[in-house]
Amino acid sequence: MRVLLFGPPGVGKGTQADLLSKKYNFIKFSMGDILREEVSLNTSLGSKVENYLIRGILVPDNIIFELVKNFLKKNKEAHILFDGFPRTLNQAQNLNKNLTQLGLSFEVALEMHLAEDEIVKRLINRRYCPKCNKIYNYATNPPKTNGVCDHCHTKLIKRSDDDTNTIKKRLQVYEEKTHPLVDYYKSLNVYNQINATGSQEDVFKKISEIIDAYINKR
Ligand code: AMP
Repeated sequence: MRVLLFGPPGVGKGTQADLLSKKYNFIKFSMGDILREEVSLNTSLGSKVENYLIRGILVPDNIIFELVKNFLKKNKEAHILFDGFPRTLNQAQNLNKNLTQLGLSFEVALEMHLAEDEIVKRLINRRYCPKCNKIYNYATNPPKTNGVCDHCHTKLIKRSDDDTNTIKKRLQVYEEKTHPLVDYYKSLNVYNQINATGSQEDVFKKISEIIDAYINKR
């Protein structure tokens, strides 16, 4: 089974992707995590993409397509949850093409929706663990010990693109480039939308209901 989560930055995709991966045994494919890791490891790919991440704009498709293709080839048999990919119509079409070539399809595209002022508040309060990628929020989901990951005790950091100007840019990029995916996924009959207001548990319940409905229909 393949499920895809999309929505503006800060809507809670990463947190939900972790919870869903545990519950449904998905392998999580988070493009943002992959790119950030390349940057932090100082790889040649990392040096190519760093500037895009800092500016809050999208990394060019040729780089993204290569990463996706390699991942799909290695994980043909897996249940996959796509988080933060695709981000453009071109990427969505490329994903479909790759899946079809491998004899696969994908079943659920889920858009998470949240008001912009709430998004900005969440992003400004967001911290993450650079080692295990666990996400915290100082307003709604703080770590047990201030500044330290509950899970692996690594010092939490604020993402460099979670500053007010870059947040604005990322929201603008989302509206322009990613939001058009709604019509595309509607046309493929796989589109669902949920309101991402409320607690992590509430949102998780809503998403689980959609996935369960799909599983029960199979
Ligand atoms: P995220 O962790 O999903 O908020 O992504 C952080 C940054 O990684 C984005 O602002 C982009 O610079 C880059 N990025 C993540 N996913 C993609 C993608 N599918 N296509 C292009 N760039 C991406």
